[in-house]
Amino acid sequence: MGGQRRGLRVLVIGGGIGGLCLAQGLRQHDVDVTVYERDESALGRRQGYRLRISPEGEQALRDCLPHRAQQLLVATANMRYEKGLAAYDERLNPQWAPTFEDARGDAPDKVDAVDRVTLRRILLAGLDDRVCFGKRFTHYEQRPGGQVAAWFDDGTHDVGDVLVAADGTNSRVRTQLGGEHALSDLGVRAILSRTPMAAAIQAGMPEVLRDRFTYVIGADGFHLGMMPMVFRTEPRKAAAELWPGLEFDDVQDYYMSVFSVHRSELGLADEEFFAMTGRQLCDLVLKRTSGWHPDLHGVFDYAEPEQTFPVALRATLPVLSWKAGNIVPLGDAVHAMPPSGGVGANTAVRDASALSRALVAVDQGKQSLAEAVAAYQEAMTGYATEAVVMSLKIAQWSMKLDFAP
Ligand SMILES: Cc1cc2nc3c(=O)[nH]c(=O)nc-3n(C[C@H](O)[C@H](O)[C@H](O)COP(=O)(O)OP(=O)(O)OC[C@H]3O[C@@H](n4cnc5c(N)ncnc54)[C@H](O)[C@@H]3O)c2cc1C
Repeated sequence: MGGQRRGLRVLVIGGGIGGLCLAQGLRQHDVDVTVYERDESALGRRQGYRLRISPEGEQALRDCLPHRAQQLLVATANMRYEKGLAAYDERLNPQWAPTFEDARGDAPDKVDAVDRVTLRRILLAGLDDRVCFGKRFTHYEQRPGGQVAAWFDDGTHDVGDVLVAADGTNSRVRTQLGGEHALSDLGVRAILSRTPMAAAIQAGMPEVLRDRFTYVIGADGFHLGMMPMVFRTEPRKAAAELWPGLEFDDVQDYYMSVFSVHRSELGLADEEFFAMTGRQLCDLVLKRTSGWHPDLHGVFDYAEPEQTFPVALRATLPVLSWKAGNIVPLGDAVHAMPPSGGVGANTAVRDASALSRALVAVDQGKQSLAEAVAAYQEAMTGYATEAVVMSLKIAQWSMKLDFAP
């Protein structure tokens, strides 16, 4: 095929981690892309906090982001490299402590964990004219000539050559497309929370727990994963130096905590659990951990209720290609996985990098859309399956699951 620019127009549904990363990759190659996000702004989503970034995820982010955004990513990344995981029982008796191999070693510009909201802001940098907030996708419609129209709940629509489903686990695009999709509820219910690091340390958190991924196995089926996020540079300060004018939130170092329990050991029906306020969830954690070692209490006592919310863990297995055509899947919409492997977002940005390369080749007239999308889906289903299986095996190692690989 020749080298004539085709003028491809890409519509992305969902401005989460994967959708925004794709838009960055396409924009670097002047491909016409618009992202439609249901949230009213970049602020205010209960998305979770710290994200571990794998070597593959870091590479994909670097592939898609312009240089200045990469500098911001490095400047705001986690400063204390993960020194493996230490597991304890609830009285802090050591259980096991595996170490992780990381090919990046202690490279000074390594990005091994980030704050999720800060990452989303970096992924939005320079995309002001490409991201439309407050646009809830309702349905699509195939048009003659191979184009596709996306409709939104305010009655408006847009037309493009490709529609990318980056709308997460409950993907509406996927629902309309139909076909087989094996999404299972793992039966695990989690409470996500955030505790300011200074408060936890002042309350007596011992040195040994401060710097690593701590996993605590409670006797009653209640488990805690606790991870530190220490900014290399506070995001607002980093932006003032590297990208003046870019808005960041006022965020301080913190611990992210994830309490997980199988629903049979929760003692609450789902309706009741998911209706709980942040304060009620914090109180539930305090009650269930009252007998735990006092050194852990700072994290529970100072957890921020407004940053505490419930989540159900789900997984897609097998990961299946979608019908080849102009509706293309990306991220959790096609491969949900439990957070135990720390690779869901990494896999979404890996998709973004691969799909961006594929769509650039189509735009440049080097490949047909059908060929490019089929090749992308074949590679994606392979590495995403590995990621889902690995995440399930880790979850299964410590928890009872309703669905196992
Ligand atoms: C507790 C927890 C910890 C995790 N930790 C890690 C980790 O350390 N490392 C890691 O790699 N992964 C982690 N993950 C997984 C990671 O969060 C997801 O895999 C990742 O966010 C998926 O990205 P995505 O772009 O596919 O979906 P999302 O980031 O969920 O984005 C989907 C977007 O689509 C929008 N949307 C949905 N429906 C519509 C609609 N109808 N119209 C318009 N917009 C819509 C949503 O508002 C959202 O912005 C964790 C998950 C959890 C729950």
